Amino acid sequence: MRNNLNSDKRVRVRYAPSPTGEPHVGNIRTALFDWLVAKKYDGDFIVRVEDTDQDRKVEGAIDLQKLSLQWLGLEWDEGLGKAGDFGPYVQSERLDIYLEHVNFLISDGNAYKCFCTLERLEEVRKKQRESKSQIIGYDGLCRQKPENYSNYSISDDCVVRFAMPQTGQSTLNDLVRNQVTFDNRLIEDFIIMKSDGFPTYHFASVVDDHLMEISLIVRGEEWLSSLPRHIQIHKAFNWDLPDFAHIPTILAPDKTKLSKRHGATSVLEYKKEGYLPETMINFLCLLGWSIDGEQELISIDDLINKFNISDLNPSGSVFDKNKLNWMNGQYLKSKTPSQLAKALFDFWIEFPPESFDSVPSQKELEIIAPLISERLKTLREAEEWIAFLYKNKISYSVDDLIQKKSDVHLTNLFIEKAINSLTQLETFDADNIEINLRDLISELEVKPGMFLGTIRMATSGQIVSPPLFESLEILGREKTVNLLRQADHLVKQTINA
Ligand code: GLU
Repeated sequence: MRNNLNSDKRVRVRYAPSPTGEPHVGNIRTALFDWLVAKKYDGDFIVRVEDTDQDRKVEGAIDLQKLSLQWLGLEWDEGLGKAGDFGPYVQSERLDIYLEHVNFLISDGNAYKCFCTLERLEEVRKKQRESKSQIIGYDGLCRQKPENYSNYSISDDCVVRFAMPQTGQSTLNDLVRNQVTFDNRLIEDFIIMKSDGFPTYHFASVVDDHLMEISLIVRGEEWLSSLPRHIQIHKAFNWDLPDFAHIPTILAPDKTKLSKRHGATSVLEYKKEGYLPETMINFLCLLGWSIDGEQELISIDDLINKFNISDLNPSGSVFDKNKLNWMNGQYLKSKTPSQLAKALFDFWIEFPPESFDSVPSQKELEIIAPLISERLKTLREAEEWIAFLYKNKISYSVDDLIQKKSDVHLTNLFIEKAINSLTQLETFDADNIEINLRDLISELEVKPGMFLGTIRMATSGQIVSPPLFESLEILGREKTVNLLRQADHLVKQTINA
């Protein structure tokens, strides 16, 4: 037995998204844990599309799953466009398999056809509620009739129910929660085949997990209550149970389930906000797990080596956006100028910066990136920092140019002097610009902040900007001097007014 798995079969894990919308961070965390386990034990990572609920199907949702996994680098081995020995990997393409298995259960007396109308079912529930019954659900009327144990075909106007054992317990050693036990009698005879000929999730997933030789099922704790159903279906077929790991729910800071009202829940929204894939992987892994309770920044290789699904804390873990921002800042900071330039360049190709009139080249970004890398929390924030370099027009008022304790005449003088000396500068680079402007500051005997504040506003329209001298180098002499002339014009207009 491997140190933390019950089963010693070949490790095969599956991520089983339903195509119902954008991939929630919680689902992607499940995929991440699957992937880590597969990597650690050199196993297979399968992606199976669970689309048996045709009413909830959303066009394009599977492509979004694919994009999310690709973005995070969670490559898979089978399914989602990749062939394998256990396909098809889309449940709606496996209906004949479910039909065959449903009939097997019926012939063995473990499932039966149910013709009860919705009205009758509602009536039954109503009575159960009125009598404060402990069990609310189907009363088993059709289970008693021998004629309901004949072969089911899609044209039959009925559903098929699983004949749940009415006594005993369903129990299992969950890798995260240890021993979990359920009383069978509390569970109704649930539907395994719907009247539209599609299986329910419970049935399809158990059949597929078995046929696809899945050795470990990682899924959210919201599926824990389904476990007794799944255990009993396995038993009815006489199949061995795989390992199960029901992982804790991701909570919002208010300790309720993380949902849209708390902000972004789709992993692709985080991509759009400018978080790095390595941040997301590191961050999502730490929701419910840690190496030693302290280390926060963990490389992928360390995650693969050290991650143990059975070390997960079973109680819910809070999605802390501040921590995510901090972590992303750390990963951004650790990039080399060319890595950061590439990340920014690729980001802006996909999400063009709205405030830019021209798009920076990767080469330019290599110069700019180190100037702002310390200050960034997300790639998206870079736009605001450097917009002035790529906008045709910047805007500010005369008052913005006049710094605290300065006045319009002094401001005028600063700008005139700066134009004069920067025009004559031999080499227009950051070092020379700095020497030159600092000489002016000494000559004028003013506070550096006062002088440089005016120049910064005149050339960027921003109170804060990346380091000024480097910024001016990137702007270039012509643009810098033009901007200073515009400021000069504005100040003179005020003086002459
Ligand atoms: N299709 C289910 C979901 O979208 C998967 C549940 C499972 O992993 O068994 O959550």
